[in-house]
Amino acid sequence: MKIPFVDLKTQYKSIRLPLERVIRSAINEFYFIRGRSVRQFEDSFARMIGVKHCIATSNGTSSLFIALKSLGIKKGDEVITPAFSWISSSETISLCNAKPVFADVDPVTYTLTAECIRKQITPKTKAVVVVHLYGQAAPMKAIQALCRKHKLYLVEDCAQAHLSTVNNKVAGSFGDVSAFSFYPTKNLGAFGDAGCVMTNDRHRAEWIRRFANHGALQKDDHVIEGVNSRMDTIQAAVLNVKLRYLQRWNSKRIRNASLYMKHLANTGDIILPRPLPGSTHTFHLFVIRTRHRDELMAFLKKKGIQTMVHYPRALTNTEAYQHLRSNQNDFPVSNALEKEVLSLPVHPELTKDEIMFVCRNIQLFYQKVKSV
Ligand SMILES: *Cc1c(COP(=O)(O)O)cnc(C)c1O
Repeated sequence: MKIPFVDLKTQYKSIRLPLERVIRSAINEFYFIRGRSVRQFEDSFARMIGVKHCIATSNGTSSLFIALKSLGIKKGDEVITPAFSWISSSETISLCNAKPVFADVDPVTYTLTAECIRKQITPKTKAVVVVHLYGQAAPMKAIQALCRKHKLYLVEDCAQAHLSTVNNKVAGSFGDVSAFSFYPTKNLGAFGDAGCVMTNDRHRAEWIRRFANHGALQKDDHVIEGVNSRMDTIQAAVLNVKLRYLQRWNSKRIRNASLYMKHLANTGDIILPRPLPGSTHTFHLFVIRTRHRDELMAFLKKKGIQTMVHYPRALTNTEAYQHLRSNQNDFPVSNALEKEVLSLPVHPELTKDEIMFVCRNIQLFYQKVKSV
């Protein structure tokens, strides 16, 4: 048996006809950037998340950058962000000439919590970027309350959390601004780069729309300088079709995760994901922890099972952030995670038999570990 980490081909085959129809019709309009499909996507996605304004962009990273810019983040400002994340959540802070201030993540959710954030607040702190890592939404009610108390802007990085919920609300509907990515392997993925920015504030939404299009709402009407971050028409057409399946695909991920939870309980030293009570973890990634990570990964590879590490380095330990001279003792959880996390395949196209095959091999691995 061969089990790939993602299987976009099987997903494509299951919706090939509607996809080919919308792509062909997008081409026939000869309108390749923005246009009707993009507006349609913005409206549908805004409704689905429960936020008033959605601005389609060219990718998730530029969405985060634009979100921070729209809040006026600038030189001299500090923005608190998780030490354990994909680099987009911190590099975009530096792109605004502000300083990323890393906070350790929580050992249960692997996200920021109000407690993690509180320790890093200084008079220069202007905003917090929360990352809903792996599909687990951070405990947002407490984070919102903390941000309100300290008058900090709240930005949500929802690149791994399409339709995740917490405190009875959808991720992306808590922050002043939120950013999504539709990178091909995300729970909702385009056929190339794509993303969006969301906000409930009408004036901020208009500023964002302008900034993402060279500072102009209409051609040549450059009120400010901006960037080029627009969604391609073809990507929006693809996303409009895939949006109809997002809920179903998420349910399959959740089903796969619950099979793992059941059959890997009490296996070796594995720490399983622990979704927050009352939240919907959408399992963009199914991440276990083990002190035998590298050996387990190699063992599964030999059995034809592809796994990945998200992420092999806490951001504070990457070369890119050595100039910040972060204190190692401030990040015990992130420093442990980089050595122990392993992502098992959890994509919606997996069958129950395939999940069981992975579980059996993991059990076999731990029998061998025990016997040496
Ligand atoms: C994928 C991802 C991004 C970046 O999205 P792109 O569309 O690839 O720019 C940002 N943050 C997180 C947590 C991600 O997983």
